[in-house]
Amino acid sequence: MPEEYMKVTMEKIVSLCKRRGFVFQSSEIYGGLGSCWDYGPLGVELKKNIKDYWWKKVVQERDDMVGIDASIMMHPQVWVASGHVAGFSDPLVECKGCKHRFRSTDIDVSSCPDCGGALTEPRMFNLMFKTFMGPVEDAANIVYLRPETAQAQFVNFENVQSTTRKKLPFGIAQMGKSFRNEITTGNFIFRTREFEQMEIEYFVKPGTDGEWFDYWVNERLNYYIGLGIRKENLRLRQHDKEELAHYAKGCFDVDYNFPIGWSEIEGIANRGDFDLTQHSKFSGKTLDYFDEEKNERYVPCVIEPSSGVDRTLLAVLCDAYDEEAADKETRVVLHINPEIAPVKVAILPLSRNGKLLPMSKDVSAMLRPHFMTQYDDAQSIGRRYRRQDEIGTPYCVTIDFQSLEDNQVTIRERDSMQQSRVPVPELLDALKEKFGL
Ligand code: ATP
Repeated sequence: MPEEYMKVTMEKIVSLCKRRGFVFQSSEIYGGLGSCWDYGPLGVELKKNIKDYWWKKVVQERDDMVGIDASIMMHPQVWVASGHVAGFSDPLVECKGCKHRFRSTDIDVSSCPDCGGALTEPRMFNLMFKTFMGPVEDAANIVYLRPETAQAQFVNFENVQSTTRKKLPFGIAQMGKSFRNEITTGNFIFRTREFEQMEIEYFVKPGTDGEWFDYWVNERLNYYIGLGIRKENLRLRQHDKEELAHYAKGCFDVDYNFPIGWSEIEGIANRGDFDLTQHSKFSGKTLDYFDEEKNERYVPCVIEPSSGVDRTLLAVLCDAYDEEAADKETRVVLHINPEIAPVKVAILPLSRNGKLLPMSKDVSAMLRPHFMTQYDDAQSIGRRYRRQDEIGTPYCVTIDFQSLEDNQVTIRERDSMQQSRVPVPELLDALKEKFGL
């Protein structure tokens, strides 16, 4: 394990996130709401950049993928057909004393971990959130908050295929919120009850699913390396037979080496033709594909790479976190891939001296339409560099008294801390070049 990686702990990440405005506890002034988190000004930028990166890689840069954005609430039959109503459940035990509930697979003791009381036999507990649509709260009006985004790709298969005229193989991508009434939550944003997913359903001709499965497993591992996560902190884990869902022909997890241990950030499954067949059966609508070359109809098979936004963000933070000795103190720095860094350029006048103000504001106004910037003139320049390092800002632009004379500013680089002088008219191009734009 690289030395700097040993420095990162979940406590340090949680504390940095709160201190600098990445993630706050939901409803904090009311004491918080279990396992719910709010993304603050920096968190929302990082999250958006991660989602944009995914969309660019899986939709924009490919000619075999299109996107959708479906509603969170779907017809309740969707979840009967998908198997979630009957089977999306975890075995649960309840303490007869304090009434706390635990996933029986999470605890290896026969008494309550909280109070030592006796536990009930495991009971199956459905993980879907239920609510009622319309004014009448009866069984006929039950709807579920989706526990995954995926089913919308299946039920819209015909709509998308006929409107885009895509030929197999092609995929439908979607990102959005999902909800699971998880019994055991925790580890910060790793396991929550409301979270965001980025999911691809990739439709292929039956018989070619094995090779497309291998393709996607490889593709998705490389995606995380491209996102800036170190290769040695990523691994692929194949599910064994007992772990596979009954319809799945194969499944790999992409795991990240979190401070809590290796844990899943994405699952890639070969789902065969299960989903389209089920929805066809339950809706009475044909969901198949007409192969013009072969002049035949068949139900496509599906490869599903399913990633979590929040877990990816947590992996990005853990992977980027470093503590270095600098000037007799510790420099905390996030070595985030510049493409997804929340703030791209910080504009830092050397001091609050009024003479520096007009030029600093001009530089800021020039850069703002092109980059997410932050203007900071509070406290010493050294402290401001540290603040930007801590949030992963790749470049700082400093305006000093010399700048007023030679119309040059200093670009300071986050990782090497090297500084170079650039004439103001060349600043925008110089920065764009550094970002590869
Ligand atoms: P786990 O085994 O950790 O519960 P899963 O195998 O049920 O996860 P999938 O159904 O494959 O997860 O969902 C795909 C992705 O969605 C996961 O890899 C993860 O990144 C994300 N995800 C799933 N459940 C949660 C959750 N409760 N909180 C945050 N992210 C989640």
